[in-house]
Amino acid sequence: TAPTTAQIREKYLSFFESKGHLRLPSHSLIAPDPTTLFTVAGMQPFKPQFMGAAAKFPGYGDNPRVTTAQKCLRVGDIENVGRTLRHCSLLEMLGNFSFGDYFKREALTWAWEFLTSPEWMGLDPSKLYATIYEDDEEAFGIWTKEIGLPEDHLLRFGADENFWPADAPAKGPNGPCGPCSEIFYDRGPAYGDDTWAEYADTRESARFLEIWNNVFPQFERQEPQADGTPTLVELPAKNIDTGMGLERIATVVQDVFDFYSNDVFAPIVARIVELSGKPYLGPESISHRVVAEHVRSVSMTLADGVSLSNTGRGYVIRKILRRASRHAYLLGLREPVLHTLVPLVVASMGSAYPELVSEEARVTAAIRAEEERFLKTLEGGIQRLGGLLEGMQQGGILGGEEAFTLYDTYGFPVDLTKEIAEEYGVSVDEAGYAESLEKAQMLARAGSKYGKSELFGGQDTVGDLSATAFVGYDQLEAEGQVL
Ligand code: ATP
Ligand code: MG
Ligand code: MG
Ligand code: MG
Repeated sequence: TAPTTAQIREKYLSFFESKGHLRLPSHSLIAPDPTTLFTVAGMQPFKPQFMGAAAKFPGYGDNPRVTTAQKCLRVGDIENVGRTLRHCSLLEMLGNFSFGDYFKREALTWAWEFLTSPEWMGLDPSKLYATIYEDDEEAFGIWTKEIGLPEDHLLRFGADENFWPADAPAKGPNGPCGPCSEIFYDRGPAYGDDTWAEYADTRESARFLEIWNNVFPQFERQEPQADGTPTLVELPAKNIDTGMGLERIATVVQDVFDFYSNDVFAPIVARIVELSGKPYLGPESISHRVVAEHVRSVSMTLADGVSLSNTGRGYVIRKILRRASRHAYLLGLREPVLHTLVPLVVASMGSAYPELVSEEARVTAAIRAEEERFLKTLEGGIQRLGGLLEGMQQGGILGGEEAFTLYDTYGFPVDLTKEIAEEYGVSVDEAGYAESLEKAQMLARAGSKYGKSELFGGQDTVGDLSATAFVGYDQLEAEGQVL
């Protein structure tokens, strides 16, 4: 029988321990440095080591080789949950790191050994493919001559694909970066009839799934020159940073259709099916996926000490939770149910992340309270918006003032309005929305005869989702995409 997600995590960490790595616990989801709000990759806690700091980890030991399973939250992927079958908002990144110790040869040959050896993942080598950075002849030689990967299983891409962070030389962020080599798994014809050669053009495939990024951080990106020329400086030493998505490798190894059929999500999806009476049908069952995935990410983030709020991290989590609420509503669930799924998250994730166990009561209560609040306003907003959209043509534009009314009166965040409108092929006049919002805020600031609470109506409106929060969120989206 196939290993569980927990067993795969453990196998990965012990494989790299057997290669001389020090196992460290996951860093919190609250990012270790200010480049992002949330931790977005396994390497993020180790930026100082990549930049040359000593590889000393008080309480654990000193070692230039480290391995972790890092919980990550990618704001830029929130909306991909539902759209693609390969993105979670919260993911666990399995990583092995070298701080000036081993380099490409060991990284790639160990990755290959872990994936293909029957003792470890036992994947069929003929289903594995890789990409390399355009002029990385060293990686090319290791893949083709030492590992024996056929040349037609390799593709070369530029910095947009094979640099991490993507396009770092031109776009940043400043800090450690380098070319990378990514490993893909061919899920087979059941997922599509495209070929690997076609991936060079499409760069999007349900069949060829990216599972593991092997990054070779050997540069520090610094401020570009005045004329915009990128500045890449060699780091004191060459490093290795790898990241394999645990959800993806588990789905491949368990040979199930998607994340939502693997051992972590299947029990949650089964419960959603039971509660809603709606079967899970794979690609078309967006709402099941959003609910299952978002409940996990919200639970994990709340357990790390983030509170629901109007700005920053708390706002992002509130947005994720409301998105889940809205999808539960679309499944016909009219009572708060998300909080009842928390025990299932704790059951599958609690042994690796004990903070989930100790924080379960607080997490459950916070989700429940927010669900209750949001459901009240959701109902009114969905009805009003549905009525408006039904009367519109595909390609139409919903007026900004209307979007503002939905927000003002029903506590309907504009991104939710946009998402629902999209389903009808309608877009939202965002500039008009911003204008209406600003006008209303000016009135409020001027201390007009409307008290703030009256002007902004119900309990979930501007009072707790302020304009600054929206702007903040757009910035986050951008950040999430950079990293
Ligand atoms: P993709 O191209 O599929 O969006 P990525 O190139 O953005 O993935 P990396 O930044 O290279 O991903 O992260 C390393 C690994 O983490 C990926 O190879 C993948 O296995 C996993 N991963 C990245 N983003 C997600 C996600 N949103 N959900 C699940 N796994 C992910
Ligand atoms: Mg991505
Ligand atoms: Mg990618
Ligand atoms: Mg990648």
